[in-house]
Amino acid sequence: MGDKDKHLPDIQQTLKKHNFKINRALGQNFLFDLNITDKIVRHSKSIASTVIEIGPGAGSLTRSILKNKTAVVYAIDKDIRSKEMLSDLKLMYQDRLKIIIDDALSFPIWELGEAPRQVIANLPYNVGTKMLINWLKHIKKFDLLTLMFQKEVADRITAKPGSKNYGRLSILTNWLTHSSKLFDVPSEAFIPKPKVRSTIIQLKPLSKPLYDVPFNSLEKLTHLAFSQKRKMLKSSLKKINGEKILKELNISSNLRPENLSVIEFCKIAKFL
Ligand code: SAM
Repeated sequence: MGDKDKHLPDIQQTLKKHNFKINRALGQNFLFDLNITDKIVRHSKSIASTVIEIGPGAGSLTRSILKNKTAVVYAIDKDIRSKEMLSDLKLMYQDRLKIIIDDALSFPIWELGEAPRQVIANLPYNVGTKMLINWLKHIKKFDLLTLMFQKEVADRITAKPGSKNYGRLSILTNWLTHSSKLFDVPSEAFIPKPKVRSTIIQLKPLSKPLYDVPFNSLEKLTHLAFSQKRKMLKSSLKKINGEKILKELNISSNLRPENLSVIEFCKIAKFL
């Protein structure tokens, strides 16, 4: 901890030093404002002995994590060039920084290091929600997740019933975690500047799910209900004989999916 990283090159210098060409397909928008990366880490209050960072890229967030925490940091990036860009940090922090070059979409990150584990990440926009759904399936393995998403996606994840953003993502997330929005990050804080706005959210896993139901059933049901969002439940759930289930549960089949609570969705999913 402290200021021992003061002599490290800044992110622009790191990119230049390694003659780095941005790979847009990997959602590479690098944060260069270290005040923002420090702020993200300050909000990641967890006593985790392992921090997992997805997509360290040039290492700005990695640097703040290593400076402000004592945990072992596992940084996993799909781009092999990230290893070179993290080499100064690796020299400085040695065994506290483990660099993994792999696809975090298929890598079982919940097995990395020792529990308790927390995830801190500025996620690649194009695959962020897919990653989140994977991790929700193993939510018990995490103590806290602090994640940056495109603002609209962050709104969908943290949405409450009845709101226009409420849907599959909010139901699965709020069934298993307490979700909250922390703050927005201006696009000027990135190189290159993204077209979309970004928001940091935090997910604190609940000690047990709001309701006991298999993940796959709830995932299937929410997919079915929200793929025809404007329709009443009696039509969108026709395939699964929804009207009968809703009647048994005393839920009106004239409602639209956004009107149902997370627990009501769980109760319906239990029939699948
Ligand atoms: N953490 C850095 C920061 O905040 O400046 C970079 C964040 S950038 C938005 C996303 C990073 O995720 C890039 O470094 C990219 O190479 C990496 N990435 C993209 N797809 C990935 C995947 N499937 N698995 C692991 N890393 C991935």
